[in-house]
Amino acid sequence: MSNLKEIKIIVKWSGKEYEISDLSEQDTVALLKHEICKKTNVQPNRQKLLNLKYKGKFPPDDLRLSVLEIKPNFKVMMMGSIEADIEEVSKVPEEEDVIDDFEVTQPFEEQSYDKQDVYLSKVNKRIRDYKIEMKNEPREGKKLLVLDIDYTLFDHRSSAEQGSELMRPFLHEFLTSAYQHYDIVIWSATGMRWIDEKMRLLGVTTNDNYKIMFYLDSSAMISIYTSDHGVIDVKPLGVIWGKYPQYSAKNSIMFDDIRRNFLMNPKAGLRIRPFRQAHLNRATDKELLKLAVYLKDIAEHCEDFTKLDHRKWELYKP
Ligand SMILES: [Mg+2]
Repeated sequence: MSNLKEIKIIVKWSGKEYEISDLSEQDTVALLKHEICKKTNVQPNRQKLLNLKYKGKFPPDDLRLSVLEIKPNFKVMMMGSIEADIEEVSKVPEEEDVIDDFEVTQPFEEQSYDKQDVYLSKVNKRIRDYKIEMKNEPREGKKLLVLDIDYTLFDHRSSAEQGSELMRPFLHEFLTSAYQHYDIVIWSATGMRWIDEKMRLLGVTTNDNYKIMFYLDSSAMISIYTSDHGVIDVKPLGVIWGKYPQYSAKNSIMFDDIRRNFLMNPKAGLRIRPFRQAHLNRATDKELLKLAVYLKDIAEHCEDFTKLDHRKWELYKP
């Protein structure tokens, strides 16, 4: 046995985590990339290890890992495509997430999970225990807009030189417009570090035209057992409503590409079209521009959002 310090790194890529443990501090960045390739099939030259930095840049291949002072279980956020994926870009995408969603089965509103004590008590626990780090205080008289990140604002699965290439078009215009009437919350089913990272990557944190009130991560979600789909995690707006009573079903709306996230507040959810394959769709995707108009219209003309049917948002006339 040698005395070399072992290094364990978690690589987060394409929605999954891979443990890279076969490394010591004497190994190089190139070897780290090789190990990542073994686990993920992403070739080293296609790997972008976003938060692995040396003197503010991506570390050179020959740098020893000891120089990077990597903490145990450090999570590296990777962007990159496997060769097969790159060929896939020209084909029709598989909509596995969408089929996995509840579109094909009976509407889940009928199941009334939002009325069941077992789940309401979970929401109450989150209201009590989940610590919100307020970034910008709520403003008097504003409504509430809650936004998912992955596939809603950002295509997290395509590869790119820069995060901004994967940003949904008109994101900043959309947030600027929405901010006039809404306090804005970001809620992603990942960890807070990734939310921070992505918001920085997209330039949301530094834009002067709007402010985000706070972020919620996966630990603010609750798990629900469904007979058709087993256990699923959802995003109950009741967590926010319980902590900030000025918001309620009457003045709140949330956007997500996965409808099941609305299970605890079905009336308040608007399922947006997912933004995928950024490189193909960037030129034509105008979803956020249209949604900005809808948000403005309902804010100015609807006193009670529970009277709206967000499934028909495109037909709304003030
Ligand atoms: Mg999503």
